[in-house]
Amino acid sequence: MKRFISSLFTILFLLLFFYVAYGSDINNYYQSNKKDNQKKVILNDKDEFKIYFFDVGEADCILIKNNSEYVLIDSGNNEDGLKLVKYFKDLGITKFKYVIGTHLHEDHIGGMDYIINNFDIDHYYMPDVSSDYLTFTEVIDALNNKNISWEVPKIDDTFIVGDAKFRIIWISKDEEDLNDTSIVVKLDFKNTSYLFTGDATKNVELRILDKDLKSDVLKVSHHGSSDASSAQFLKQVNPEYAVISVGKDNDYHHPHGITLNKLESIGTIVYRTDKQGTIILTSDGENIYIDTANTDTNGN
Ligand SMILES: [Zn+2]
Repeated sequence: MKRFISSLFTILFLLLFFYVAYGSDINNYYQSNKKDNQKKVILNDKDEFKIYFFDVGEADCILIKNNSEYVLIDSGNNEDGLKLVKYFKDLGITKFKYVIGTHLHEDHIGGMDYIINNFDIDHYYMPDVSSDYLTFTEVIDALNNKNISWEVPKIDDTFIVGDAKFRIIWISKDEEDLNDTSIVVKLDFKNTSYLFTGDATKNVELRILDKDLKSDVLKVSHHGSSDASSAQFLKQVNPEYAVISVGKDNDYHHPHGITLNKLESIGTIVYRTDKQGTIILTSDGENIYIDTANTDTNGN
């Protein structure tokens, strides 16, 4: 019996020893191997910070929400317009504090006339560029009908929505490539940061390298084309996550393998609207949680 009790104590002692020595490390191992984006960020609706990168095919549409105020960057293609209006109304949106049409291409302002016709807009931003594209004249007519003035921000202008601070990193009116007139915006929300690039190419990237570009999340420029996302630029942004807004089986073969390889080489986790649908990001200002959803927002 004595022998049995002594063996029992030995076993208990060994178990205790292993728990103290390794148990907490095992816990830490699993904790540290959980990616940050797996931490669910729970906020009450009033303080909620959310970014939606909508599935609008080969186009861009990004909605930012904080403290029940909204910012819209681009509006998908023309055929996405009505679907986006429905989605936004279902979210309870009646007004956008800021709407940014990054540049005049149809895949960025195609749905904008529907947005202008259906919602109040405090500020409407676009580069100082005109064109005779039908999609552009539709936007101008809609703005005029609603008496909304078209504002042209300047580089380094800032504006605030809730606790989110926006800074204009780039805008231009005089570029060979219309993509390079794109309004590029950086958003800081507490300790997290986001960079929205429109379709700006390497020409612009090289000219903004002196800006504070470091961001946790990058909206990859020009649908992942190889004419953007230079190694120098990506190194400076050094994003933890990247979102590519891109159409399934698109004619441009976006995103380009070169861009995907570059993002992979710097350890960035990539989300794609063609594969994962709408990408929905939530943050409490420290942690970033990313979810995906099938939304009826792609008019193709
Ligand atoms: Zn585009």
